[in-house]
Amino acid sequence: MENRELKISIAHLYPELLNLYGDIGNIITLKKRCEWRGIEVEFEEIHSGDTIKEHDIYFIGGGQDKQQEEVADELFKNKWFLHKERDCGAVFLGICGGYQLFGHYYQPHDKEKLKGISLMDAYTIAGDTRFIGNVTAKTDFLTPDTLVGFENHSGLTYLQGETKPLAKVTTGNGNNGQDKTEGARYKNVFGTYLHGSFLPKNPHFTDYLIELALEKRYGEKIPLKLLDDKLEMTTHNSLINKPY
Ligand code: GLN
Repeated sequence: MENRELKISIAHLYPELLNLYGDIGNIITLKKRCEWRGIEVEFEEIHSGDTIKEHDIYFIGGGQDKQQEEVADELFKNKWFLHKERDCGAVFLGICGGYQLFGHYYQPHDKEKLKGISLMDAYTIAGDTRFIGNVTAKTDFLTPDTLVGFENHSGLTYLQGETKPLAKVTTGNGNNGQDKTEGARYKNVFGTYLHGSFLPKNPHFTDYLIELALEKRYGEKIPLKLLDDKLEMTTHNSLINKPY
């Protein structure tokens, strides 16, 4: 890969509305882990009213119910384009409120149901408890297999059909505090409740997303050069099964 000019395009969806708890850190991590390997990054922020263009990675952060209302309308206008992008292998990462809108709907407390874009077969209903605290969850596809982060949501997300959990909760609540699932995956669409922000503390998952995006763009698996992740993994390991 060293002697190839590689490029990845990344879109940050509605950062002015969904960017809770420093979710911008996920964009910074994606950009840096590409640049440290000499992979050129084309980056675009998508704001309300913008037409969404083709990208390799789409990122959307979390936010309060109010901001989710505006974003839900904007996303719905682009629903079929985003379905086409999903089916072409584009990588999506949604955090919490953004994740909830990847499903069929989010039903807040005492408010109208927010339409999701059904990128995944899932739905969310506001619960009576706000889940706040550290989460550790185990995947069946990463090495190491752990993901760590911080949750703060009242939404309870339930997965259906071919949409599978991202990971199994070992500490914390995850999707709904009942079925021990955290996050979701369908094709290259990923959702998670983990803020913190999420990717800086999970460099191995960041690289997994970058490799998927390169495979989508170049049509072949391109293994990434290893980076010195001592600092990142020391942080990651310090959070494993950290109580609330
Ligand atoms: N408003 C949603 C909830 O409370 C999402 C919150 C968030 O993005 N942290 O579940």
